[in-house]
Amino acid sequence: MKRFVILLIMITICSKAYAKDIIFVSILPVKFIAEQIAGNNFEVKALVPENFDPHTYEPKPDDMKMFAKAKYYLSIGDNFDGVWLDKLISVNKKIKIVNIDNTIRKRKFDDHESHHENNAEHEHGMYDPHIWTGLKNMKIMAKNILNFLSNEDSKNLNYYKLRYEQFIKEIDKIIGEFDSIFTNCDNKKFLVFHPSWGYFADDFHLHQIAIEDEGGEPSIKHLKSIIDMVKRENIKVMFVQPQINSKISETISKQLKVEKITINPLSYNILDEFYKIKESFIKSCGGKNE
Ligand SMILES: [Zn+2]
Repeated sequence: MKRFVILLIMITICSKAYAKDIIFVSILPVKFIAEQIAGNNFEVKALVPENFDPHTYEPKPDDMKMFAKAKYYLSIGDNFDGVWLDKLISVNKKIKIVNIDNTIRKRKFDDHESHHENNAEHEHGMYDPHIWTGLKNMKIMAKNILNFLSNEDSKNLNYYKLRYEQFIKEIDKIIGEFDSIFTNCDNKKFLVFHPSWGYFADDFHLHQIAIEDEGGEPSIKHLKSIIDMVKRENIKVMFVQPQINSKISETISKQLKVEKITINPLSYNILDEFYKIKESFIKSCGGKNE
């Protein structure tokens, strides 16, 4: 019996020693970016589950329980953090908040990207919160994660650095591919329902035109201006996200022959979404002389 007890204590001590520290993030693409650098050394968990909208997701008691065990929270300063972070911290006062957005220059929405202005509860403020949809931002976030990991776990610095460099290389490759597509392409406008892709647009001097009007279905006036623009500028691509179901997007796509492509800005592997975007632009740019 005594031996058994000792064995049990040993197992408990060992499993404690090998339990990975938990890093929390708000959304899956940020989990993806963090894991590219952290590898297997940490357990990264996202609060908002797949197919839920961070604008409206409310953490469940189980999320709170899990959050209570986390050591770090990587904040991207979005509206989810604005609404929930204080409540989350109340169950885990020791958690260390790392602002991985602090070296990112946040863009403002322009006239064609009205965003949630009537929705006080999920107010985004004047800055575009969707920072992770910019490839150049992704590199900055990766750098901030590398710095954070190097500080917290300096003995594995080389491991993180190597992974960081590989990740940057992959992003740079995609950036180069987009650059070469857009140097020979006049179709620099694309339609979206929700304006999630502003940083991507800025990366390549494109313009996203949001169908959504103040966080909901568009007014007749707004819709008319969009239809005019699509015709005038020969806009050929529309990105819709699976979290949002809009009949108007469907109608515009059919009536004006704008190809509707589902791109998920909240997908775990966000780079795969960029590959889909790339394919759609190759098609729409290549077809401009038809
Ligand atoms: Zn949004």
